[in-house]
Amino acid sequence: MSYTFQERSKALALVVDDDASLRVAMEAALQKAGFEVIEAESGREAIALFQAKKPDLILLDVIMPGMDGFQTCSTIRDLPGGKHVQILMVTGLDDTKSTERAFEVGANDFISKPLNWLMLGHRARYMERAGRSYKELIKSQQRLAKTQKLAKLGNWDINLSTGKFHCSFEARRLLGFENASHSLTFEDFLTPIVVQEHHNVKTAINNAVNTRKPFSVNYLIILPDGSQRHILNQGEILPDDTGAAEIMLGAIQDVSELKLAEEEIRLLAFYDGLTGLANRMLFHDRLEQEISKAKRYKQYFALLFLDLDQFKRINDLYGHHIGDLLLKNVSETLQKCVRTSDTASRMSRDESETVIARFGGDEFIILLPDINEPENAAKIANRILHEIPSTYDLDGHDVSITTSIGISVYPADGDKPDILLRHADSAMYHAKDTGRNNYQFYEESLNAVVTERFSIEKDLRKALEQNEFLLYYQPQINLATRKIVGAEALIRWIHPQKGMIPPDKFIPIAEESGIIIDINKWVIQTACQQNKKWEQLGFPPVRIAVNLSGYQLAHQNLIQTIKEALDAANLDPKNLEVEITENILMQEEANSINILNQIKDLKLRIALDDFGTGYSSLSYLTSFPVDVLKIDRSFVMCCTEQKNNLIIIRAIIAMGHSLGMKIVAEGIETEEQLKLMTAYGVDEAQGYYFKPPVSQEDFVKLLEKGTL
Ligand code: C2E
Ligand code: CA
Ligand code: CA
Repeated sequence: MSYTFQERSKALALVVDDDASLRVAMEAALQKAGFEVIEAESGREAIALFQAKKPDLILLDVIMPGMDGFQTCSTIRDLPGGKHVQILMVTGLDDTKSTERAFEVGANDFISKPLNWLMLGHRARYMERAGRSYKELIKSQQRLAKTQKLAKLGNWDINLSTGKFHCSFEARRLLGFENASHSLTFEDFLTPIVVQEHHNVKTAINNAVNTRKPFSVNYLIILPDGSQRHILNQGEILPDDTGAAEIMLGAIQDVSELKLAEEEIRLLAFYDGLTGLANRMLFHDRLEQEISKAKRYKQYFALLFLDLDQFKRINDLYGHHIGDLLLKNVSETLQKCVRTSDTASRMSRDESETVIARFGGDEFIILLPDINEPENAAKIANRILHEIPSTYDLDGHDVSITTSIGISVYPADGDKPDILLRHADSAMYHAKDTGRNNYQFYEESLNAVVTERFSIEKDLRKALEQNEFLLYYQPQINLATRKIVGAEALIRWIHPQKGMIPPDKFIPIAEESGIIIDINKWVIQTACQQNKKWEQLGFPPVRIAVNLSGYQLAHQNLIQTIKEALDAANLDPKNLEVEITENILMQEEANSINILNQIKDLKLRIALDDFGTGYSSLSYLTSFPVDVLKIDRSFVMCCTEQKNNLIIIRAIIAMGHSLGMKIVAEGIETEEQLKLMTAYGVDEAQGYYFKPPVSQEDFVKLLEKGTL
């Protein structure tokens, strides 16, 4: 929408009348009033002249042959530039119909015949002046719109008593409403704001209204095409004469480019120019955030402080250019090392991210959020120590370097940024002192714990090959008959140096490192073979229960393992039972149900182990194909002292029985416990009261007796 207006020294009037003598008289009157005049004798001619000359004022006779004045008027109004020309209609005397019509077709005013020539001059001058101001107004509006467009600035206002809202064309465009046909409401005006900021913006504006103070808010909007725009919205209240708030005037501006520039500045201010890693300032900021998060969620995190060993030597030897290249390469290696942080030990990662920063010179620092155990930090440190010394080819030089790493752990080694950093730093010096190219925890005892853990993991990998595992068997008794009906197979590790290591000490490590898959396979095979041997010795069949712990069932290739083990031993599947804990079932529920159903199809018995300690709920019991509930030892242990445990045990038994399940009580140590369990209708039991887990040789002796 744009009009051009001609500048001329005298205003131009067009006189349209079919009566030549009237035209002459009107021309004279208008010239007297200071106009330059042109004439037309018909509507058609008037239209052509209008287009050619763009007069400021038109005197238009209503009654003319051919095209009459009304038609001519409305045609001119539709022509380019026709909207704003002043049109004075000349009607018959007292012809009210005609005057009404004149306004309908868009005339600005009318005058009746016979004409008073003096009046005509005044009227014409007055109209021309009004027309000129109107043009000025439109011109300045156009200028404003242009400027607003250039400045990406739109204005808006709202009448606070009536709620009537108005905004400029550019404001509509900025908010993505340029194609909307309706006029906008204040609600429309706010809808493009991203949901997260919607409430804040509304509150800011409401506060401004209530307190009569100016406001300024910054927010992100989403346009209909999905793109985003940063908007700065500023406004203030204009009071009316009585001082009561009346309208709010505001301006919105597209500040997206400004934001981009800010982002660039931020990059310069918070990132290391050489490596692109976070700098000291950003790191401090993230560290503080992590501390408050860890405090809130009771999490642990670790700081790894790295210093390249003898970096100065490389700088001296090859020059700073190579030194810089080396730092860049090391930073890439570090990023690679933390990216591939292992998933087995960190199954659920939350939103905080690992931060790597360069602390200047050859010092780097890594924040590892949400680690479960110090071992996880040690693992990353190990990986870095392993990856960094790979020789870098830097501009034709083969350069190799090692690093020393110090680790501090929140909250054990401090709960303030500077303390954690200082302790990681001093641990790093300790690593340098102990020969470089190694890592050290600040807390001395952790070094021992971690070393022990890694040595167990290393030895575990060889234990299967070297035949260091054994199965012990703990008998399970039918409480009604007192007969041995089964046994739980429990693994033992006979370590060549350390002797017997209990499963609680190595099973968690086996689970985390994935070794458990092979261990479970070995247990299943061994239990099947053992059971067959007892059968061949002529004992009545017993059922052996194996524990399948820790690792997602779906990742173990269990079904094939079980099938092959049963086939190889030629064992009846009903003599094999699997014990699974609730926690595993919960991990990948749909997958787990699927696997359990397949186990069920193989005709094995399925027991839910440690029942009552996990997320036990009735709905789980009904959706999993479970045959047996094993009441956890902790309930049985104190059932005689704690009334609450009794209530829970009775509820579990009733629930299990009503679902057609068998109930097994584990960990029975006293006669009193046994009596209670028997009275409550528990079907089977195991525990030290009968027998602890025993070697297979000792179990044969029990089988010979048959009862306990
Ligand atoms: P669990 O499945 O709950 O096994 C029962 C544990 O309770 C066994 O400990 C057993 O020796 C012990 N126990 C039995 N009766 C009593 C009693 O009357 N009082 C007390 N205080 N304890 C009793 P163990 O053999 O040390 O096994 C510990 C855990 O290690 C097992 O808990 C199981 O989760 C895991 N585990 C054992 N063997 C295997 C295995 O072959 N494969 C897998 N994946 N996990 C195993
Ligand atoms: Ca068990
Ligand atoms: Ca158990």
